Amino acid sequence: MPVVACTIMGVTVIGRFWEPLTKMEKDAVLAHEQAHQQLHHGRQRWWWLLTGRWNGVTRRCHQQEHDADKIATFAGHGRGLLKLLGRAHNTPASDFHPSHRERMGNIMYWMTYGDDSVPENTC
Ligand SMILES: [Zn+2]
Repeated sequence: MPVVACTIMGVTVIGRFWEPLTKMEKDAVLAHEQAHQQLHHGRQRWWWLLTGRWNGVTRRCHQQEHDADKIATFAGHGRGLLKLLGRAHNTPASDFHPSHRERMGNIMYWMTYGDDSVPENTC
């Protein structure tokens, strides 16, 4: 699925797939991106790049996505995230993102079982 929005150096950039989204989906995207900012994920990725720490970077990037999803879910945006990810639920994992199916499974788990622990900053 093409990027709807991403956060680069603390600034959230909206992509061309933003407009067709519902308000609930847009709110979920912004909550997810805000979580990336809150956890300094962009800065972490730059640090990995500048210091050549690419060993395990896919695993760490996937963990960042799960952490942002978790915070957004517990801020009340789980349904919006599920609706958004469900638009392209067969999207496979990439170097920087887990598959949509994996993300949706985690979000449904958190919505069902309510683990409210906040992920730690892994920088
Ligand atoms: Zn993200």
